Amino acid sequence: MHHPSNTHKINLVTLGCSKNLVDSEVLMRQIKANNIEILHDSNEITETVIINTCGFILDAKQESIDTILQFADARKKGIVKNLLVMGCLSERYKSELITEIPEVDAFYGVSDFARIINDLGFDFRKDLLGERLLTTPAHYAYLKIAEGCNQHCSFCAIPAIRGNHQSRNIEEIIREVEKLAAKGVKELILISQDLTYYGLDLYKSRKLPELVDTLCKIEGIEWIRLHYLHPAGFPQDLIPVIRDNKKVCNYIDIPLQHINTNILRSMRRGVDKKQTIELIRKIREEIPEAYIRTAFIIGYPGETSKRYEELKEFIHEMKFERLGLFAYSPEEGTSSFSMRNIVSKKVVQTRIDELMSLQQSISHEKNMNRIGHTLKVMIDRKEGEYYIGRTEYDSPEVDNEVLIESKAKNLSGHLLDVRINGADTFDLFGNIV
Ligand code: SF4
Repeated sequence: MHHPSNTHKINLVTLGCSKNLVDSEVLMRQIKANNIEILHDSNEITETVIINTCGFILDAKQESIDTILQFADARKKGIVKNLLVMGCLSERYKSELITEIPEVDAFYGVSDFARIINDLGFDFRKDLLGERLLTTPAHYAYLKIAEGCNQHCSFCAIPAIRGNHQSRNIEEIIREVEKLAAKGVKELILISQDLTYYGLDLYKSRKLPELVDTLCKIEGIEWIRLHYLHPAGFPQDLIPVIRDNKKVCNYIDIPLQHINTNILRSMRRGVDKKQTIELIRKIREEIPEAYIRTAFIIGYPGETSKRYEELKEFIHEMKFERLGLFAYSPEEGTSSFSMRNIVSKKVVQTRIDELMSLQQSISHEKNMNRIGHTLKVMIDRKEGEYYIGRTEYDSPEVDNEVLIESKAKNLSGHLLDVRINGADTFDLFGNIV
């Protein structure tokens, strides 16, 4: 490995989800502590490039491979001197990748931070554990409260890649949040594969409600957002925490994956149709303000047209405010990999298109209903004449935005009252009150 000198720059490219982003931020802090300039840019060619890959489903794997190949070319020409690949894809397919992409100097798994740092000739600073170099705007940060997953969903490769669920201890999380708040973070986005499981491994009981309550008391924290809540084992005492605490966003991100009971059983989701409907109704009843985000897998083996129609009807009836749709991706090593009754790609795409257009009309109607209301908006950035922000019902990158025309200066990072005066399918428009 070529050892970077003090004048070298390192570029870290992150693919995949916010959990990967947090890992990149941890590594960037370690590199910076060694006085090396670190960039986080998907295109920049520097002497050392590290790619943090995603290996969850087919499209994500393809994107990671394309990115590695793009930098492999620069490595071959000698413009890049070190090309390192880490993360989920590399953890999962290390031996194949070594053979297929020889331009890469070294492959690492999902938790090889110390090895990467040492191989580059730097010191791994144990005293910096828990510290990160934030790549998000200064006013929000992702907070990973656990690693891995203890569920055994039939289609999912995550437990094989990231291992069993490991909760971080509450004191360590609190210390991290105090530091984040002191740096100006106002919005915390709690992440893990399954937030509802938090505490079961470490404390033998579900501790998410207690953790959220505690984090709300930290000075400077204004919003707490929860990604993702598994429907099986949804802690009932979380409902009053979300409803009664103004700092907890009325935003419930609960991936349901399907509604047909046979498919849910085959997926090993731990809930059936009846239990799912009961849970959604309970959330709607007890937190009428809540916006629900969910996600479904389309084309899971055995999704007959009748079962698909059942899902469509469910989406139509429940009117989720936010919806993600994913084509089923058969993954090696998962229990659904060899299942028969495959749905053709063409049918899957037709179903996704149909559900997307159904969702667009739901989203449009919900947005129109917001006109005339005054909502709290977190201002993320300025673009031309507009400030762009989000309500408590919107997570960064994945949800709607609010566009605000204003000549005022330096509003980014402020939480302001905005009167909504216009809407389209995915955005709101408003004025500062
Ligand atoms: S809950 Fe299921 S889908 Fe989510 S990470 Fe765990 S195994 Fe995968």
